[in-house]
Amino acid sequence: MAANPVTPVVKVAKELFKKPFTTEFPEQREEIVDNYRGIHKLDMKTCISCSACARICPNDTITMVDTETDKGTKIMPEINLERCLFCALCEEVCPTDCLILTKDYDFERYDRREFIKRPEELD
Ligand code: SF4
Ligand code: SF4
Repeated sequence: MAANPVTPVVKVAKELFKKPFTTEFPEQREEIVDNYRGIHKLDMKTCISCSACARICPNDTITMVDTETDKGTKIMPEINLERCLFCALCEEVCPTDCLILTKDYDFERYDRREFIKRPEELD
């Protein structure tokens, strides 16, 4: 039996009047669920440079780097977002709660080097 040529035309016409599936990012943003884990935030004032976050990280995402502070040079976490699994182990282990994962998911970049965030950029 020959296929009905009208059917594909009707299908295409229906698709033309459907709403788009994507949103106009970044002007339009999705609502983020409560347990979403996004980019880290570091409070440099309360970081005690213990390196617990770097030690527990399962993917070598955190490097402790020299950082200038009001009290001289301290080592603090630098985070390579490209390697991050967003598992939040670093947040869990931090003894002063100075390292947390936020709901910020907007970190697309053209240059891969920009995925590496210095402590000052996370503060
Ligand atoms: S969220 Fe997980 S993978 Fe990412 S830096 Fe923290 S411990 Fe490492
Ligand atoms: S961010 Fe927290 S776990 Fe990491 S070095 Fe600072 S105090 Fe320690």
